[in-house]
Amino acid sequence: MTALKVSFHTLGCKLNFAETATIARQFSAGGYTKTTAADADICVINTCTVTEHADKKCRNLIRKLARTNPNAIIAVTGCYAQLKPDSIRQIEGVDIVLGNSSKGQLFDQVDELVKRGKVSPCENDAFTGFFSAFSTEGRTRSFLKVQDGCDYKCSYCTIPYARGESRNIPIAEATEQARAIAAAGQKEIVLTGINTGDFGHTTGERFIDLLKALNGVEGIERYRISSIEPNLLTDEVISFTATSEKFQPHFHIPLQSGCDRILGLMRRRYTTDVFARRIETVRRVMPDTFFGIDIIVGFPGESAEDFETTYAFLEKISPAYLHVFPYSDRPLAPASRFDGKVAPQVMADRVKRLTDLSDRMHKRFLERYIGKEAHVLWESTLKEGKMAGFTGNYIRVKAPYDKKYVNKITKVLLTGITEDGNMTGEITT
Ligand code: SF4
Repeated sequence: MTALKVSFHTLGCKLNFAETATIARQFSAGGYTKTTAADADICVINTCTVTEHADKKCRNLIRKLARTNPNAIIAVTGCYAQLKPDSIRQIEGVDIVLGNSSKGQLFDQVDELVKRGKVSPCENDAFTGFFSAFSTEGRTRSFLKVQDGCDYKCSYCTIPYARGESRNIPIAEATEQARAIAAAGQKEIVLTGINTGDFGHTTGERFIDLLKALNGVEGIERYRISSIEPNLLTDEVISFTATSEKFQPHFHIPLQSGCDRILGLMRRRYTTDVFARRIETVRRVMPDTFFGIDIIVGFPGESAEDFETTYAFLEKISPAYLHVFPYSDRPLAPASRFDGKVAPQVMADRVKRLTDLSDRMHKRFLERYIGKEAHVLWESTLKEGKMAGFTGNYIRVKAPYDKKYVNKITKVLLTGITEDGNMTGEITT
């Protein structure tokens, strides 16, 4: 019998990408081959529900896949499937809907459907297990899932409903997976989770001990922490990162607002003062750190003055990059019932101002490195004969393509800034 063909479609965060990669490996081990949607016998869609726009994107993608390939099995999983399974089941052509709590059963469900011509129903019940996952798509970098779920109750967020309580894999399993990633030839691991720094709930282990254990895995030359809550970026984590040659000076931290009144309404667990002191502590021991900061604009009740407070705070702490998100009402989240909704046009203007600020700060950050040497892990070919890679502090560098450097770390002289916010480099070793 010819092998059945599966296409994979992932929306949303790095955790979803890592999980899709693991589902893909299960299919491959089961004798299925990977293909594009048009050619697929099975389409697997891993969904996201972070905003209303994300929900819409999921529905559109599912409809499109069901329409263009009416004979395929359409299997939908992920956060949107967890929170709104019924709205997905109503879409014509959908065969399987599994939330995050049942994601690990997706392959078995599809295989069962293939064998028996029907699918046994599976409800989205309680979150019990942990679906271990890591991505193997790129040749250079892997996203390793070490934690899932969240116990925080930020007022704008529905992720705890979609992902369940905070839980993790044991350190021993994480290091074993890191060894498997190293054996596959990848040099860099990005530690991924919903609230990654909250690692340890299931096993009673500590996040810092996870970092120390991973640091000892041979073959992995670089680690990054995908995102860490400010209150969990402890002195211990900072000083370990500063002394480790493998953990890179790169932090992605969700600030969400630079105004304490709004942080309170958001039910975040820090003040701007605490946040600013965290940044100072990191810079004291790692002055070259790249800070990527998440910001939500237009949270209910955010006045013009509150926004200016946020703007001034961001100018003061001057991160390398801002990820700016317009506030999106999620019906399950308490903030959806808050007064003082901000008009869409006002929200769009605030997004624009912060995006412009981010562009200026990013350029300023890059300018510091013109004429300096850095180490770049080369990743890929680009258009026009160029390859690209990242420095330890997350500057994307382009240089003429040379196959022998792909998936290698080399010394590079940073020579200039390109129009699209990368740097140009000359390999010096
Ligand atoms: S920390 Fe807050 S924003 Fe992040 S997943 Fe948990 S509840 Fe959501």
